[in-house]
Amino acid sequence: MSQPAERIVPADQPRAIGHFIAGQPRPGQSGRASDVFNPATGAITSKVALASAAEVDAAVAAAQKAFRPWAETSPLKRARVMFRFKELIERDLDKLAAIITSEHGKVLSDAKGEVQRGLEVVEFATGIPQLLKGEYTEQVATGIDAWSVRQPLGVCAGITPFNFPVMVPMWMFPMAIACGNSFVLKPSERDPSASLRLAELFKEAGLPDGVFNVVHGDKVAVDALLTHPNVAALSFVGSTPIARYIYATGTAHGKRVQALGGAKNHAVVMPDADIDNAADALMGAAYGSAGERCMAISAVVAVGEAGDKLVERLIPKVKAIKVRDGCDPAAEMGPVVTGQHREKILGYIEDGVKSGAKLVVDGRGLTVPGREKGFFLGGSLFDKVTPEMRIYKEEIFGPVLVVLRAPDLATALDLVNKHEYGNGTAIFTRDGATAREFAHRVQVGMVGVNVPIPVPMAFHSFGGWKQSLFGDHHAHGPEAVRFYTRGKAITQRWPTTPIGPAFSMPTLS
Ligand code: NAD
Repeated sequence: MSQPAERIVPADQPRAIGHFIAGQPRPGQSGRASDVFNPATGAITSKVALASAAEVDAAVAAAQKAFRPWAETSPLKRARVMFRFKELIERDLDKLAAIITSEHGKVLSDAKGEVQRGLEVVEFATGIPQLLKGEYTEQVATGIDAWSVRQPLGVCAGITPFNFPVMVPMWMFPMAIACGNSFVLKPSERDPSASLRLAELFKEAGLPDGVFNVVHGDKVAVDALLTHPNVAALSFVGSTPIARYIYATGTAHGKRVQALGGAKNHAVVMPDADIDNAADALMGAAYGSAGERCMAISAVVAVGEAGDKLVERLIPKVKAIKVRDGCDPAAEMGPVVTGQHREKILGYIEDGVKSGAKLVVDGRGLTVPGREKGFFLGGSLFDKVTPEMRIYKEEIFGPVLVVLRAPDLATALDLVNKHEYGNGTAIFTRDGATAREFAHRVQVGMVGVNVPIPVPMAFHSFGGWKQSLFGDHHAHGPEAVRFYTRGKAITQRWPTTPIGPAFSMPTLS
């Protein structure tokens, strides 16, 4: 049994977080490391190693070595490893959630929800024998049968963001591995510990060494993966500028790439909506996880008379959000991930005020007793926001909700469709025809009707449109089986009489 990665340094020294390669924890060798904070206290809790290209190469080599035997393992046996992995995650769900909260800051109940949503992908992956069944045509021509199969690609890599340190990696590696690939994960350097725990659990579940590897790092590690000749496919989730770079560089190096980017998710609230329900839904969708969700609602388009009623209801609710250390069971919202990110959000609020938007709830200046150095912000609410303002155009990724007004559905739809992002959206209405019109016309990948965060379940696929996704495949679900495999069509005959030469194009008649 391997030593847990967290214990690779003596207890009297600051905790060092290393990599997990070929089934073993590996201390960082590059001499470079990055601070990891507890966002609730502001304290540096550990230093995560930043891999060199040589360390990435070692991880890819381990994955390359493990690939063939794993690909030859029957899908049923692979599924059995997934079943054990699922049980171990269930066993350790609370511990995983605590790790997330300690480095990300989100409240514990939210962290548990994140683990649960990741677990659902493992549950889907346990069905891999069924998912990988090919298609067969008997007697495609006289005495000839044809079938198609899907085969794994080789070494796949994942590069993931800070905001879901368990769920987003688990959109990727359980599906890639169930399909018969090996995997190298490069998680966010801001909350790196959960991925190592997942690697240990997978090993405990019986996954052969080298099938799943974790390297921590920054651009150096990412570039090493993007250009590595033995990496066949790359899945990325993060901000749009980096997603665009990953897609361009990875595909230029001959890799299959899916790169999910940022978002500015709109909720359209119609005058006929149940305004109380819409306001409650928006509270969770805008301020849950301190707004650090790619599916957070960050812009509301209030149609007609919905505007004043909605803002009136939102103001006291936003002021009343219980902002605490995420470990406090009463907390509804924790801190944001780093002091630097907090400064960026404060900059946006300042910019919104300067550009003339009405800051009806100001979340700046909030302190949490006993946690004065934590990266906390209260919820902020802007009204009378207009489309040219930066607080509307750009992704803030913090607890800031902006409200725009529109006279009718057509204007609201036009706003949503003109925005550069197209990840998720929602409409609140009591009218079926309005809902249908919206769902049909909106240029966005995931749509909710009276559902504020329409994240598809693991057996559907997840993905946005426009600048929210680069590539052809969405994440997890059936699309992941397509992304992590390639098709092969086989045509076969076993002649019992002479066939003779055929010089014309075979027509299989
Ligand atoms: P990020 O783009 O800063 O980082 C994502 C990953 O890219 C990290 O692993 C990071 O180490 C790496 N990276 C950062 N800079 C790089 C560079 N210059 N070159 C190569 N690699 C680099 O994103 P983040 O701040 O960690 O996460 C938040 C972002 O992720 C938001 O924009 C959010 O909308 C997005 N996100 C999108 C989805 C989705 O499904 N579309 C889901 C979750 C998060």
